[in-house]
Amino acid sequence: MSSNSGIQIPSRLPLLLTHEGVLLPGSTMRISVETARNMHLVKNRLLKGTSLKSTIIGVIPNTRDPEHDTEDLPTLHSIGTAGLAVQVVGSNWPKPHYTLLITGLCRFRVAQLLKEGPFPVAEVEQLDKLEQYTSPEEMSEAALPDGELGELSQRFYQAAVQLVGMLDMSVPVVAKLRRLLDSLPRETLPDVLASMIHTSNKEKLQVLDAVSLEERFKKTLPLLTRQIEGLKLLQKTRKPRLDDDKRVLAVRKGGVLPGRQFSLDEEGDDEDGDDTAVLERKVKGANMPEPALRVCLKELKRLKKMPQSMPEYALTRNYLDLMVELPWSKRTTDCLDIHAARVLLDSDHYAMEKLKRRVLEYLAVRQLKSTLKGPILCFVGPPGVGKTSVGRSIARTLGREFHRIALGGVCDQSDIRGHRRTYVGSMPGRIINGLKTVGVNNPVFLLDEVDKLGKSLQGDPASALLEVLDPEQNHSFTDHYLNVAFDLSQVLFIATANSTATIPPALLDRMEVLQVQGYTQEEKVEIAHRHLIPHQLEQHGLTPQQLQIPQDTTQDIISKYTREAGVRSLERKIGAICRAVAVKVAEGHNVTKSEAAPAESAPQGAEHGDGKRGRRAEEPDGVSADMAAPPDMPIVMDHIALKDILGPHVFEMEVSERLTLPGVAVGLAWTPLGGEIMFVEASRMEGEGQLTLTGQLGDVMKESAHLAMSWLRSNAKTYQLTNLVGGSDPLEGTDIHLHFPAGAVTKDGPSAGVTMVTVLASLFSGRLVRSDVAMTGEITLRGLVLPVGGIKDKVLAAHRAGVKRVIIPKRNEKDLEEIPANVRKELDFVTASNLDEVLNAAFDGGFPGMSNPLTLPHIVSKL
Ligand code: ADP
Repeated sequence: MSSNSGIQIPSRLPLLLTHEGVLLPGSTMRISVETARNMHLVKNRLLKGTSLKSTIIGVIPNTRDPEHDTEDLPTLHSIGTAGLAVQVVGSNWPKPHYTLLITGLCRFRVAQLLKEGPFPVAEVEQLDKLEQYTSPEEMSEAALPDGELGELSQRFYQAAVQLVGMLDMSVPVVAKLRRLLDSLPRETLPDVLASMIHTSNKEKLQVLDAVSLEERFKKTLPLLTRQIEGLKLLQKTRKPRLDDDKRVLAVRKGGVLPGRQFSLDEEGDDEDGDDTAVLERKVKGANMPEPALRVCLKELKRLKKMPQSMPEYALTRNYLDLMVELPWSKRTTDCLDIHAARVLLDSDHYAMEKLKRRVLEYLAVRQLKSTLKGPILCFVGPPGVGKTSVGRSIARTLGREFHRIALGGVCDQSDIRGHRRTYVGSMPGRIINGLKTVGVNNPVFLLDEVDKLGKSLQGDPASALLEVLDPEQNHSFTDHYLNVAFDLSQVLFIATANSTATIPPALLDRMEVLQVQGYTQEEKVEIAHRHLIPHQLEQHGLTPQQLQIPQDTTQDIISKYTREAGVRSLERKIGAICRAVAVKVAEGHNVTKSEAAPAESAPQGAEHGDGKRGRRAEEPDGVSADMAAPPDMPIVMDHIALKDILGPHVFEMEVSERLTLPGVAVGLAWTPLGGEIMFVEASRMEGEGQLTLTGQLGDVMKESAHLAMSWLRSNAKTYQLTNLVGGSDPLEGTDIHLHFPAGAVTKDGPSAGVTMVTVLASLFSGRLVRSDVAMTGEITLRGLVLPVGGIKDKVLAAHRAGVKRVIIPKRNEKDLEEIPANVRKELDFVTASNLDEVLNAAFDGGFPGMSNPLTLPHIVSKL
């Protein structure tokens, strides 16, 4: 029977192989998940599931012994049951495993296995019809089959009624079963009863394999009769007691537990009977607004009439559970004290003065006005500069709950607004989920990475987000799943982004952008010592008495192992050091400078001194050395130990090394990840005057290259530039190739103009560019230098890379004020208004051209 009406299951299903029991449609079963394959499925599909229908999986009985379950996928049984995972519970004891509660929906046949690992996924063909739930009153007589099948189903129905009639009707579950018999469609009875009565797994497998309805009735009827006969015998031999009745029928909500197969889950059902009552109490006590309450009561009424085995029961139940859990009127009281907030922000974060000041202003206004209407703060800056962590501090200063919503890659508006409840497996969006997690209606929500929102056919998530953020609309935000309005006006939203360029304009309009810049080397050292190291020590269970990291070492970590605007990899490196030391401490090898062995003899050690070592180096093994060590001497992280743990240096001062040939110069680029230095290379060869550009350049950058080329050609005589054959047109008989590493990263923008001119001037003159200079600036055809953006980030990058002189456009001089004094002190800034000045500053001894003393570049600072 192929389905062409009713609910469709997805055509691709992940497969769960079960060793215990056979799941039949219409029954609910508890499945323990222990094999690696099944664990992957649960983790990837059920725990991460945000997409539609992700909670439907295919359950296939596996006849192989789990003990002998190997890496290879066993031959799959061809028929399985699509199931809805109603509940997932994880535990680590005695070993990691999950327990799933799964309701069977319908049979499917495996048409084709699409992939085997990490868990199997197959193309499937749905075999049973899956109807929307219709209440008994709505079920028409005409739906009953006729002919032989009708007769069979009638016989089956009567046998089922007889079986139930032999049980004690005063037990609630039996009474309910009796009602179910009448309300369930007849064709579902074989599956439902086969999963209730006592049958072996083999028999259940036969029922599962009986795809045609007729065959299914024929297979199950004898099982039912056997049960009735068994019951009669039991009643004859013993005086019937309630207990016995309970044993007769194995109404299994859970899996088949050996020795418990006959037990009737009476408590469970009582609970269920009470359950709806409990739920009703909860609904009434949830303090929801009138419209929501009305919807809940209506759903509750439907729920009471529904048989538990219907897939829709679980859906309605989930919906109601969510509704009562939502914090309709639960909130925390704000406890804002500006003075305390200042102290807290300062103690949590070093530097970032401008940002902290603006945040305090924002909070102060909030305190005075006590409304939330106003722009939403959006922190924009490279990763790892503390945007999230400032958001967290704001929540702390207000005494509010904090929740982060990652928007990176979200391209479906139902991610924000939820799926309509007409689907199996639908769920609410991230906003409602977040509210459920925090349990109050006035948390701080951090919308992380708003610049990474995607767009797709499923609607634009940005427009959904607009509604969330708009104070005029968000008091009645309607999630598709809830289908009733929820008031978001008390939520404090903060957004973060790496760059404003990709934030949808309408969204950007609602936000006040606060730039967070990268840190200087010195700021990083301070942040490391005040925050990162203490934090990492604590995380790894270490104390400052066990591990000390001197400032020199921190500086080494920063300059030789990281190259970033923020401090995220710095924190990771410190974490790596802590882990290595934690192992030593746990082993009891708390070795110190005075007794450490030479570096070569302990390749993995973290415990080397600074070279003045060797007091006990002649000891054949470290044991006696260890014993001699005072017990609580700290491990001091020096350069050698650092190299042992973190490996060879990742970043060396490469600038001077790479500037050893004419035709190389260093430019400064701005990326959403902060400033970066960029080598530009040029070479020439015999040819026909072609200019080749590589390194994934955008149009603006390509045009800059042509501009640079044209300017040099028109000024070739002035600057005494020559081509390969000695002529004065650099392109005559020559091909030029300009390359911008790293070749895999797309680059664009006008600010590399001055660098290209310098590279080409170096190539055509055969002179080396100064090895300690980096530059940025847009050029014009007439040789003027125009201002560019991102000066602070670029200068910090140059400083990180060990550059000594930075050439910037004259009109960017004002931006130098933003640069920390200590960085300014270490750099020469040359401000140039034309290319002549750039070339003069970029080459040792100036560049022979039209320069006269009046046009010599202006060195602004060596303050
Ligand atoms: P972002 O959100 O900007 O990517 P995070 O807030 O996740 O960065 O910061 C990464 C780590 O760096 C966090 O552990 C944070 O506490 C720390 N951090 C960043 N900036 C500072 C600072 N100025 N003072 C103290 N810690 C900081």
